[in-house]
Amino acid sequence: MKDQLQDVRDVPANSAAPSLCPCGASSVSAMGVCGRSALLRCRVCELVVRARMPLQEELDARYCGEYWARFQAEQTGPARDNVHAHVLNWLAQAHPEPGTVVDVGCGAGAFLARCREREWRGVGVDPSPSAVAYATAMGLEAYVRSWPSSLLESETVDAVTFINVLDHLRDPFKALLEAWRVLRPGGLLYIRVPNGALHTRLMAPLSVIGFGNLSVVHLYGFSRAAFRFHLPRLGFAVRAVRTAPPSQGDAYGAGDGSGGAVFRRFLKKADQSLYAVLAWSGLDRLPLGPSIEVMAVKVPLGTGRGR
Ligand SMILES: [Zn+2]
Repeated sequence: MKDQLQDVRDVPANSAAPSLCPCGASSVSAMGVCGRSALLRCRVCELVVRARMPLQEELDARYCGEYWARFQAEQTGPARDNVHAHVLNWLAQAHPEPGTVVDVGCGAGAFLARCREREWRGVGVDPSPSAVAYATAMGLEAYVRSWPSSLLESETVDAVTFINVLDHLRDPFKALLEAWRVLRPGGLLYIRVPNGALHTRLMAPLSVIGFGNLSVVHLYGFSRAAFRFHLPRLGFAVRAVRTAPPSQGDAYGAGDGSGGAVFRRFLKKADQSLYAVLAWSGLDRLPLGPSIEVMAVKVPLGTGRGR
């Protein structure tokens, strides 16, 4: 693996090397190793990218089956209720009349249920038949679809949300372009992802103490710089890239009985305390915590879209 890192390190921007980042750049820095893949950081847009992407078939198998079996309890429980309320508060503030929101990667429909309570029409798409069956059994509007999807007409929805989804996708930019297509002009885009800048920084020290798996980098690591580079080019005006509130529960594997469970619970409490201080002081407007969120607005064609 060390040799792999040396192979990709310091590739000059103007060389004949193929682009290694979706922005088209080939100038990258090696960031370390996550799972079985080297992580690269683009020197142009600062996006962190896995050098070896899994095949779409591998991702389909994961998110259609294994993911639901492993995370069903978290998806159907209250762990993220506070996050969903937070998202809806922003949507309601920016769009006071309840409208239509599409939740990409809706899972079992926990966010769609909160939308219904606030009189928003929530439409969910998810590749997992089991998760969607759970959502529809609750009377929610969810579809077994990948994204992009031809499910929706252009310019028919008021908001699109990617809540801990975007960094799991092989082509997040194609997914964002589809969000742009279905949004009405001025429509709202909400994204919540792990803080790529922080997690890549923590990867090495956490690995030294045996908790490298707590550094979360899926297929991409997004940062404020990467969002501010890419979103305007995709037709969005960025309103904020800031610290996202941590979930109220031990979401996603904290109770798996591993030796790290106690440490995870400690980190969860520390994360919640950190956020409370940041929110109290107003510093949550900076992307400092383990999760970051983006609020953006669709910009009509001809008013600044770069490509
Ligand atoms: Zn790039």
